[in-house]
Amino acid sequence: MSLPCLFGFHRPSLSSIARRPLGLVGLCEGCGRPMNKPGDGKWALTDPLDKPIRS
Ligand SMILES: [Zn+2]
Repeated sequence: MSLPCLFGFHRPSLSSIARRPLGLVGLCEGCGRPMNKPGDGKWALTDPLDKPIRS
């Protein structure tokens, strides 16, 4: 986890960016978490849908 990530400043790794019908997706360069960017929006983290549920 890089320092910018701790403060919420995630940025996508250029090599991970891929185009999707609804926008762009990528992985954060610092922490590797998935991000997406709607067509005219900002990059934001996405929660993986297959996140394990802790009991
Ligand atoms: Zn990050």
